Amino acid sequence: MASIQALGIDVGSTTVKIVGVDAGGNPVWHILEQSEPYAEVQVERLLAQFSSILPVVATGYGRNLVRQATRIVTEITCHARGIYAEFRHSGTLLDIGGQDSKVIQIGPTGEVLDFAMNDKCAAGTGRFLENTARRLNVPLEQMGPKVLAAEEDVAISSTCTVFAESEIISLIARGVPLPSILRGLHRALIKRLVAMIQTIGLVPPLMLSGGVVQNPAICQMLQEELDAEVILPGTPQLMGALGAALIALERHPK
Ligand code: ADP
Repeated sequence: MASIQALGIDVGSTTVKIVGVDAGGNPVWHILEQSEPYAEVQVERLLAQFSSILPVVATGYGRNLVRQATRIVTEITCHARGIYAEFRHSGTLLDIGGQDSKVIQIGPTGEVLDFAMNDKCAAGTGRFLENTARRLNVPLEQMGPKVLAAEEDVAISSTCTVFAESEIISLIARGVPLPSILRGLHRALIKRLVAMIQTIGLVPPLMLSGGVVQNPAICQMLQEELDAEVILPGTPQLMGALGAALIALERHPK
């Protein structure tokens, strides 16, 4: 803890992430919790253990609720900063979170060249898979492995989360195997994400962040669909908070 020189906090709609970096910008501490309804209370509790002189950059959907923030920065800038610290090269970043997804074009020195965002519709986000996982009693962590073991995709024609759920229920009633249904569901999500990537164009490699990319089927199916190199950081869910911490460190060097 003593080595922490700056903090980045990403208040997402699904999870709250905090990363602490040392003077060299190395991540030395982190915490991840499910978002609570009153984010300001949650954040205050999580930050209470730190000295108030530490610089704190807040980002994410609830970034304006962080009273301790010395600066507030958009998710686009923080995700790009975090992923650039990890890979150190240009390319396209796709972040898939619980309730939004975004695609960011990153230039050779880590700058944001362009971006597109979906935060209006659950299809194209983690929520699309989560709803079905809950409904079908499949633990989220088992969705990916089941999809990878499936023999075929079953076409899911509804792009809306609510209609896709009823379509799945009728496929089950017709005796279609669960893994094939789940694979079809993942295919529908991937197609939406690919369409979003195409609005700004893919400059390989495709770099991934966000909680949803921990699902191994997402990574593999994106690779198949785009026929491009797809790379994953060690801690994809922490990229926004890491970027925020690095920005906090730059602004307040010791
Ligand atoms: P946000 O920043 O929008 O709050 P995150 O990037 O933290 O979202 O991602 C949260 C989402 O990640 C959850 O909706 C959940 O569906 C998904 N997720 C988390 N862990 C896993 C996992 N092991 N496998 C599949 N999905 C996961």
